[in-house]
Amino acid sequence: MDNLDREKNILVIGTGGTIAGVGDKGKTLGYDSAQINVDNILSGVPYIEDLANVKPVELYNVDSSDMSIDKLVNMACYIEEMAARDDVDGFVITHGTDTLEETAYFLNLTVHTHKPIVLTGAMRPSTAISADGPFNLYQAVALARSSEAEGKGVLVVFADAIYGGRDVIKVNTFKTDAFNQKDMGSFGYMRDDKAYFYNHSVKKHTLSSEFRVSKDMKLPNVEVVNYYLGRSEDILKHASKISEGIVLGGAGCGGASEKWNKEIEKMLKSGKIVVRSSRISNGLVTHSSKAIFKKGVYSNSLTPQKSRILLMLALTKTKDIEKIQEVFNMY
Ligand code: ASP
Repeated sequence: MDNLDREKNILVIGTGGTIAGVGDKGKTLGYDSAQINVDNILSGVPYIEDLANVKPVELYNVDSSDMSIDKLVNMACYIEEMAARDDVDGFVITHGTDTLEETAYFLNLTVHTHKPIVLTGAMRPSTAISADGPFNLYQAVALARSSEAEGKGVLVVFADAIYGGRDVIKVNTFKTDAFNQKDMGSFGYMRDDKAYFYNHSVKKHTLSSEFRVSKDMKLPNVEVVNYYLGRSEDILKHASKISEGIVLGGAGCGGASEKWNKEIEKMLKSGKIVVRSSRISNGLVTHSSKAIFKKGVYSNSLTPQKSRILLMLALTKTKDIEKIQEVFNMY
Protein backbone atom coordinates (compact mmCIF):
# COMPACT_ATOMS: atom_id res chain seq x y z
CA MET A 1 0.00 0.00 0.00
CA ASP A 2 1.13 3.52 -0.69
CA ASN A 3 2.29 5.46 2.28
CA LEU A 4 0.70 8.81 1.47
CA ASP A 5 0.57 10.00 5.10
CA ARG A 6 3.59 12.14 4.44
CA GLU A 7 3.73 14.64 1.61
CA LYS A 8 6.34 13.52 -0.92
CA ASN A 9 8.92 15.82 -2.47
CA ILE A 10 9.13 15.27 -6.22
CA LEU A 11 11.72 16.96 -8.41
CA VAL A 12 10.32 17.75 -11.86
CA ILE A 13 13.25 18.06 -14.25
CA GLY A 14 12.52 19.94 -17.48
CA THR A 15 14.46 19.06 -20.62
CA GLY A 16 12.21 20.47 -23.39
CA GLY A 17 10.23 18.68 -26.11
CA THR A 18 6.66 19.14 -27.34
CA ILE A 19 5.34 19.28 -23.78
CA ALA A 20 7.18 22.64 -23.68
CA GLY A 21 6.09 23.49 -27.24
CA VAL A 22 4.16 26.51 -28.49
CA GLY A 23 2.34 26.85 -31.80
CA ASP A 24 -0.64 28.18 -33.72
CA LYS A 25 -3.73 28.66 -31.52
CA GLY A 26 -5.37 25.30 -30.87
CA LYS A 27 -3.44 23.47 -33.61
CA THR A 28 -1.37 20.33 -33.22
CA LEU A 29 0.83 20.94 -36.28
CA GLY A 30 3.31 23.71 -37.01
CA TYR A 31 4.69 24.39 -33.55
CA ASP A 32 8.14 24.85 -32.05
CA SER A 33 9.12 22.48 -29.28
CA ALA A 34 11.11 23.52 -26.18
CA GLN A 35 9.69 27.06 -25.86
CA ILE A 36 8.37 27.33 -22.29
CA ASN A 37 10.17 26.43 -19.10
CA VAL A 38 9.23 23.73 -16.65
CA ASP A 39 7.65 26.21 -14.15
CA ASN A 40 5.24 27.29 -16.89
CA ILE A 41 4.47 23.70 -17.83
CA LEU A 42 3.67 22.92 -14.19
CA SER A 43 1.47 25.97 -13.77
CA GLY A 44 -0.73 24.54 -16.55
CA VAL A 45 -1.45 21.37 -14.53
CA PRO A 46 -4.36 21.92 -12.14
CA TYR A 47 -4.42 20.02 -8.82
CA ILE A 48 -0.83 18.84 -9.17
CA GLU A 49 0.00 20.42 -5.81
CA ASP A 50 -2.55 18.06 -4.23
CA LEU A 51 -0.34 15.13 -5.23
CA ALA A 52 3.04 16.17 -3.87
CA ASN A 53 5.37 18.98 -3.05
CA VAL A 54 6.60 19.54 -6.59
CA LYS A 55 9.91 21.31 -7.21
CA PRO A 56 10.74 22.34 -10.80
CA VAL A 57 14.33 22.29 -12.08
CA GLU A 58 15.20 23.24 -15.65
CA LEU A 59 18.16 21.13 -16.78
CA TYR A 60 17.85 21.67 -20.54
CA ASN A 61 15.24 23.06 -22.90
CA VAL A 62 15.78 21.32 -26.24
CA ASP A 63 13.98 19.34 -28.88
CA SER A 64 14.88 15.79 -27.91
CA SER A 65 16.71 15.31 -31.22
CA ASP A 66 19.25 17.72 -29.72
CA MET A 67 19.69 15.63 -26.60
CA SER A 68 23.22 14.19 -26.55
CA ILE A 69 25.17 11.53 -24.69
CA ASP A 70 27.09 14.31 -22.88
CA LYS A 71 23.79 15.78 -21.68
CA LEU A 72 22.62 12.34 -20.54
CA VAL A 73 25.84 11.72 -18.62
CA ASN A 74 25.37 14.95 -16.67
CA MET A 75 21.65 14.31 -16.17
CA ALA A 76 22.42 10.88 -14.69
CA CYS A 77 25.01 12.41 -12.34
CA TYR A 78 22.57 15.12 -11.24
CA ILE A 79 19.79 12.62 -10.50
CA GLU A 80 22.16 10.29 -8.66
CA GLU A 81 23.33 13.19 -6.48
CA MET A 82 19.76 14.35 -5.75
CA ALA A 83 18.60 10.79 -5.06
CA ALA A 84 21.03 10.61 -2.15
CA ARG A 85 19.16 13.42 -0.38
CA ASP A 86 16.50 12.69 2.24
CA ASP A 87 14.35 15.59 1.07
CA VAL A 88 13.89 14.16 -2.45
CA ASP A 89 11.50 11.20 -2.81
CA GLY A 90 11.23 10.83 -6.55
CA PHE A 91 11.82 12.32 -9.99
CA VAL A 92 9.79 13.24 -13.03
CA ILE A 93 11.57 14.18 -16.24
CA THR A 94 9.69 16.04 -18.97
CA HIS A 95 11.28 15.10 -22.29
CA GLY A 96 10.70 15.25 -26.03
CA THR A 97 9.15 12.03 -27.23
CA ASP A 98 11.44 11.43 -30.22
CA THR A 99 14.42 10.15 -28.24
CA LEU A 100 12.73 9.63 -24.87
CA GLU A 101 13.28 5.87 -25.06
CA GLU A 102 17.07 6.32 -25.31
CA THR A 103 17.20 8.63 -22.29
CA ALA A 104 14.98 6.25 -20.31
CA TYR A 105 17.30 3.30 -21.02
CA PHE A 106 20.46 5.30 -20.34
CA LEU A 107 19.18 6.41 -16.91
CA ASN A 108 17.92 2.87 -16.22
CA LEU A 109 21.53 1.70 -16.58
CA THR A 110 23.42 4.53 -14.90
CA VAL A 111 21.42 5.91 -11.96
CA HIS A 112 21.67 3.89 -8.75
CA THR A 113 18.61 4.45 -6.63
CA HIS A 114 15.39 2.72 -5.61
CA LYS A 115 13.55 6.08 -5.76
CA PRO A 116 11.08 6.39 -8.64
CA ILE A 117 12.30 8.07 -11.83
CA VAL A 118 9.47 8.68 -14.30
CA LEU A 119 9.75 10.18 -17.78
CA THR A 120 6.88 11.74 -19.64
CA GLY A 121 6.18 14.15 -22.47
CA ALA A 122 3.48 15.11 -24.91
CA MET A 123 2.51 14.63 -28.52
CA ARG A 124 0.62 17.94 -28.69
CA PRO A 125 2.14 21.32 -27.86
CA SER A 126 0.95 23.24 -24.81
CA THR A 127 -1.14 25.55 -27.04
CA ALA A 128 -3.14 22.75 -28.74
CA ILE A 129 -6.79 22.02 -28.00
CA SER A 130 -6.72 19.01 -25.67
CA ALA A 131 -2.97 19.18 -25.14
CA ASP A 132 -1.92 15.83 -23.65
CA GLY A 133 1.05 17.16 -21.64
CA PRO A 134 -0.77 18.30 -18.48
CA PHE A 135 -2.50 14.98 -17.83
CA ASN A 136 0.64 12.97 -18.65
CA LEU A 137 2.59 15.14 -16.22
CA TYR A 138 -0.10 14.84 -13.54
CA GLN A 139 0.05 11.04 -13.82
CA ALA A 140 3.86 11.02 -13.88
CA VAL A 141 3.98 12.93 -10.57
CA ALA A 142 1.32 10.60 -9.14
CA LEU A 143 3.48 7.61 -10.11
CA ALA A 144 6.71 9.18 -8.83
CA ARG A 145 5.21 9.66 -5.35
CA SER A 146 3.94 6.08 -5.25
CA SER A 147 5.87 3.54 -3.21
CA GLU A 148 4.81 0.88 -5.74
CA ALA A 149 7.07 2.57 -8.29
CA GLU A 150 10.14 2.13 -6.08
CA GLY A 151 12.84 -0.28 -7.26
CA LYS A 152 11.23 -0.93 -10.66
CA GLY A 153 13.88 0.91 -12.67
CA VAL A 154 13.24 3.97 -14.78
CA LEU A 155 9.58 4.23 -15.81
CA VAL A 156 7.70 6.07 -18.54
CA VAL A 157 4.11 7.27 -18.19
CA PHE A 158 2.25 8.06 -21.36
CA ALA A 159 -1.45 8.08 -22.29
CA ASP A 160 -2.61 6.24 -19.15
CA ALA A 161 0.01 3.49 -19.36
CA ILE A 162 3.22 2.66 -17.48
CA TYR A 163 6.26 1.38 -19.38
CA GLY A 164 9.76 0.24 -18.41
CA GLY A 165 12.89 2.11 -19.54
CA ARG A 166 14.45 -0.95 -21.19
CA ASP A 167 11.67 -1.89 -23.55
CA VAL A 168 9.62 1.26 -24.12
CA ILE A 169 9.61 2.52 -27.72
CA LYS A 170 7.84 5.28 -29.61
CA VAL A 171 5.44 3.69 -32.07
CA ASN A 172 3.46 6.57 -33.55
CA THR A 173 4.57 9.86 -35.10
CA PHE A 174 1.57 11.96 -34.01
CA LYS A 175 -1.14 10.11 -32.10
CA THR A 176 -1.31 10.74 -28.36
CA ASP A 177 -1.03 7.02 -27.55
CA ALA A 178 2.49 7.04 -28.95
CA PHE A 179 4.42 4.46 -26.90
CA ASN A 180 4.39 0.77 -26.16
CA GLN A 181 6.68 -2.10 -25.24
CA LYS A 182 6.30 -4.24 -28.34
CA ASP A 183 5.51 -7.88 -27.50
CA MET A 184 6.06 -7.16 -23.80
CA GLY A 185 2.92 -5.02 -23.49
CA SER A 186 3.32 -2.61 -20.61
CA PHE A 187 4.03 -2.58 -16.87
CA GLY A 188 0.49 -1.47 -16.19
CA TYR A 189 -1.96 1.41 -16.19
CA MET A 190 -2.52 4.77 -14.58
CA ARG A 191 -6.11 5.59 -13.75
CA ASP A 192 -6.24 9.20 -12.61
CA ASP A 193 -3.60 9.33 -9.87
CA LYS A 194 -3.51 5.61 -9.05
CA ALA A 195 -0.98 3.15 -10.47
CA TYR A 196 -1.96 -0.42 -11.37
CA PHE A 197 1.12 -2.60 -11.92
CA TYR A 198 0.95 -6.04 -13.55
CA ASN A 199 4.51 -6.59 -14.86
CA HIS A 200 8.10 -5.61 -14.25
CA SER A 201 11.43 -6.15 -15.98
CA VAL A 202 13.65 -9.09 -15.00
CA LYS A 203 16.71 -7.40 -16.56
CA LYS A 204 19.34 -5.62 -14.44
CA HIS A 205 18.80 -1.92 -13.83
CA THR A 206 19.44 1.01 -11.46
CA LEU A 207 20.67 -0.44 -8.13
CA SER A 208 21.85 -3.70 -9.69
CA SER A 209 23.60 -2.03 -12.65
CA GLU A 210 27.39 -2.16 -12.79
CA PHE A 211 27.63 0.95 -14.97
CA ARG A 212 28.62 4.30 -13.52
CA VAL A 213 29.20 7.65 -15.14
CA SER A 214 30.84 10.73 -13.69
CA LYS A 215 30.40 14.40 -14.54
CA ASP A 216 31.66 15.31 -18.05
CA MET A 217 32.81 11.73 -18.65
CA LYS A 218 33.25 10.94 -22.35
CA LEU A 219 31.78 7.64 -23.50
CA PRO A 220 33.21 5.65 -26.42
CA ASN A 221 31.58 6.49 -29.74
CA VAL A 222 29.31 3.78 -31.13
CA GLU A 223 27.66 4.12 -34.54
CA VAL A 224 24.47 2.42 -35.73
CA VAL A 225 24.41 1.30 -39.36
CA ASN A 226 21.19 0.07 -40.91
CA TYR A 227 21.23 -2.54 -43.61
CA TYR A 228 18.80 -2.43 -46.50
CA LEU A 229 18.62 -4.34 -49.74
CA GLY A 230 21.66 -3.62 -51.90
CA ARG A 231 23.32 -1.16 -49.51
CA SER A 232 27.00 -0.46 -50.17
CA GLU A 233 29.40 -1.70 -47.50
CA ASP A 234 31.32 1.61 -47.73
CA ILE A 235 29.05 3.10 -45.07
CA LEU A 236 30.00 0.26 -42.73
CA LYS A 237 33.72 0.83 -43.33
CA HIS A 238 33.28 4.56 -42.69
CA ALA A 239 31.29 3.95 -39.49
CA SER A 240 34.02 1.62 -38.31
CA LYS A 241 36.69 4.30 -38.85
CA ILE A 242 34.91 6.86 -36.67
CA SER A 243 33.74 4.59 -33.84
CA GLU A 244 34.89 2.20 -31.17
CA GLY A 245 31.96 -0.13 -31.72
CA ILE A 246 29.27 -0.78 -34.32
CA VAL A 247 25.62 -1.72 -34.02
CA LEU A 248 24.08 -3.26 -37.07
CA GLY A 249 20.39 -2.55 -37.62
CA GLY A 250 20.16 -5.69 -39.67
CA ALA A 251 17.41 -7.22 -41.77
CA GLY A 252 15.36 -9.93 -40.03
CA CYS A 253 17.43 -11.63 -37.34
CA GLY A 254 20.32 -9.15 -37.69
CA GLY A 255 21.11 -10.14 -41.28
CA ALA A 256 23.03 -8.42 -44.07
CA SER A 257 24.58 -9.28 -47.45
CA GLU A 258 27.60 -11.52 -47.93
CA LYS A 259 29.78 -8.46 -48.56
CA TRP A 260 28.64 -6.88 -45.30
CA ASN A 261 29.14 -10.14 -43.42
CA LYS A 262 32.72 -10.42 -44.71
CA GLU A 263 33.42 -6.85 -43.63
CA ILE A 264 31.92 -7.53 -40.19
CA GLU A 265 34.05 -10.66 -39.82
CA LYS A 266 37.18 -8.63 -40.58
CA MET A 267 36.19 -6.03 -37.97
CA LEU A 268 35.62 -8.71 -35.36
CA LYS A 269 39.01 -10.26 -36.12
CA SER A 270 40.65 -6.88 -35.60
CA GLY A 271 39.00 -6.63 -32.15
CA LYS A 272 36.21 -4.20 -33.01
CA ILE A 273 32.91 -5.08 -31.33
CA VAL A 274 29.95 -5.42 -33.67
CA VAL A 275 26.47 -5.96 -32.21
CA ARG A 276 23.79 -7.41 -34.43
CA SER A 277 20.37 -5.92 -33.83
CA SER A 278 17.35 -5.74 -36.12
CA ARG A 279 15.36 -3.15 -37.99
CA ILE A 280 12.30 -5.21 -37.03
CA SER A 281 10.69 -4.07 -33.82
CA ASN A 282 9.56 -7.44 -32.43
CA GLY A 283 11.37 -10.66 -31.61
CA LEU A 284 14.92 -11.64 -30.75
CA VAL A 285 18.29 -11.46 -32.46
CA THR A 286 20.15 -14.57 -31.35
CA HIS A 287 22.62 -17.07 -32.73
CA SER A 288 24.85 -19.78 -31.36
CA SER A 289 27.25 -18.39 -28.75
CA LYS A 290 30.17 -19.87 -30.76
CA ALA A 291 29.20 -17.65 -33.70
CA ILE A 292 29.99 -14.37 -31.92
CA PHE A 293 33.58 -14.35 -33.23
CA LYS A 294 32.28 -14.55 -36.83
CA LYS A 295 28.90 -12.82 -36.65
CA GLY A 296 29.17 -10.50 -33.65
CA VAL A 297 27.39 -10.02 -30.35
CA TYR A 298 23.64 -10.52 -30.58
CA SER A 299 21.42 -7.79 -29.20
CA ASN A 300 18.85 -10.09 -27.63
CA SER A 301 15.64 -8.01 -27.86
CA LEU A 302 17.19 -4.52 -27.81
CA THR A 303 16.53 -2.14 -30.70
CA PRO A 304 19.56 -0.70 -32.53
CA GLN A 305 19.33 2.63 -30.69
CA LYS A 306 19.16 0.93 -27.28
CA SER A 307 21.93 -1.52 -28.25
CA ARG A 308 24.10 1.52 -28.95
CA ILE A 309 23.53 2.87 -25.43
CA LEU A 310 24.37 -0.48 -23.83
CA LEU A 311 27.45 -1.01 -26.01
CA MET A 312 28.80 2.46 -25.14
CA LEU A 313 28.52 1.62 -21.46
CA ALA A 314 29.82 -1.94 -21.86
CA LEU A 315 32.93 -0.62 -23.64
CA THR A 316 33.79 1.46 -20.56
CA LYS A 317 34.28 -1.88 -18.77
CA THR A 318 35.70 -4.34 -21.29
CA LYS A 319 36.54 -5.03 -24.93
CA ASP A 320 36.17 -8.78 -24.47
CA ILE A 321 33.49 -9.98 -26.88
CA GLU A 322 32.27 -12.83 -24.67
CA LYS A 323 31.91 -10.52 -21.68
CA ILE A 324 30.02 -8.02 -23.83
CA GLN A 325 27.66 -10.80 -24.93
CA GLU A 326 27.01 -11.55 -21.26
CA VAL A 327 26.16 -7.87 -20.72
CA PHE A 328 23.65 -8.03 -23.59
CA ASN A 329 22.08 -11.11 -22.02
CA MET A 330 21.76 -9.49 -18.59
CA TYR A 331 20.62 -5.91 -19.23
N1 ASP B 1 10.32 16.80 -31.68
C1 ASP B 1 9.78 16.67 -30.34
C2 ASP B 1 10.88 16.22 -29.42
O1 ASP B 1 11.21 15.07 -29.39
C3 ASP B 1 8.67 15.72 -30.34
C4 ASP B 1 7.97 15.53 -29.03
O2 ASP B 1 8.37 15.95 -27.98
O3 ASP B 1 6.92 14.88 -29.08
O4 ASP B 1 11.42 17.02 -28.72
